[in-house]
Amino acid sequence: MEELKIARIDVFQVDLPYRGGVYRLSGGREYRSFDATIVRITAQNGIEGWGESTPFGSNWIASHALGVRAGIAEIAPKLIGLDPRRVDRIYDAMDAALIGHSHAKTALDVACWDIFGKATGLPVCELLGGRTDVKMPIIDSCPVTGPAETRQQVEAFRAEGYTGHSLKVGDDPAIDAERITAALADKKPGEFFIVDANGGMTVESALRMLRLVPPGLDFVLEAPCATWRETLSLRRRTDVPIFLDELAVGDESIIQIIADDAADGIGLKISKNGGLTKGRRHRDICVAAGLTISVQETAGSEIALSAIVHLGQTIPERNLRTILDTRSVVNLTTADVDFEVVDGRISAPTTPGLGVRPRLDVLGSPVASYY
Ligand SMILES: [Mg+2]
Repeated sequence: MEELKIARIDVFQVDLPYRGGVYRLSGGREYRSFDATIVRITAQNGIEGWGESTPFGSNWIASHALGVRAGIAEIAPKLIGLDPRRVDRIYDAMDAALIGHSHAKTALDVACWDIFGKATGLPVCELLGGRTDVKMPIIDSCPVTGPAETRQQVEAFRAEGYTGHSLKVGDDPAIDAERITAALADKKPGEFFIVDANGGMTVESALRMLRLVPPGLDFVLEAPCATWRETLSLRRRTDVPIFLDELAVGDESIIQIIADDAADGIGLKISKNGGLTKGRRHRDICVAAGLTISVQETAGSEIALSAIVHLGQTIPERNLRTILDTRSVVNLTTADVDFEVVDGRISAPTTPGLGVRPRLDVLGSPVASYY
């Protein structure tokens, strides 16, 4: 095997504005932009790999943007001289340098996969197990708002080609039920709806909301409650399919979901789950257990989107529900990409690596470099 070594790691910072002004989640949480960390790893032979980690603010899960860059500062010096193609061994080195902090490891991990692809001449999806021929449906992200506005949001995304709709709820049970009813009022055949409370409901409020929703509406309920106990309690008392997201963050929690039969599917966001190396593992565990998967990112630009498109392209059709198009949330372009959305569906690029060409003028100068 020809020698390949990490020679240099550069870190860039970009603010990604929310494209709709103010994004609202349950519990009064508001977001106007997302702080992105983008990493460039350069090998000794000049091959460059790119990765991104963009937390959804600091109060969505236990991750935050300053933590991404502080974590990278701990880890990056320990990766110089290692072979980026050995992604599991890179992960060993990252875990030896810093326990946990998956959101910091993600950008470095994804950049190594990009180099691995370019060094072998293969798209990342081929290295992750091989592409399916699925044209993957994209899903949007509709923040908390009133019932009539929710219906309009869905209609606007539908007009852009989206067939998956992620609808944020989690405040008053009666208003949430109205929101769901309004959002699904114009549902088209083949559309897939996620009702996402982001952990904002108690068991009591979730049960009240579900009783107020007209029977027969086709949706899955995502992240109804903040804790494991509440989730299991609700799970025993409703037949609505449940996805977990904030509670599905790593090996242990995904194994526990299966052991407790706590959910029917997960939102697999690679920056909370630890990058493509961990995302690959979580994909395999979910497929083996028969769970369905919505491949997403916490937030992010084209570099993050490319990574999840490659991972999604390796998931069998019966297990894959949707891919989050991060561009339904943010509106700054950090990279040109080798893929496009056609009729609301997306396919992984066929060029080596991730298939992204970052816009250096948008990224600016590195905020940190390690070599
Ligand atoms: Mg979610």
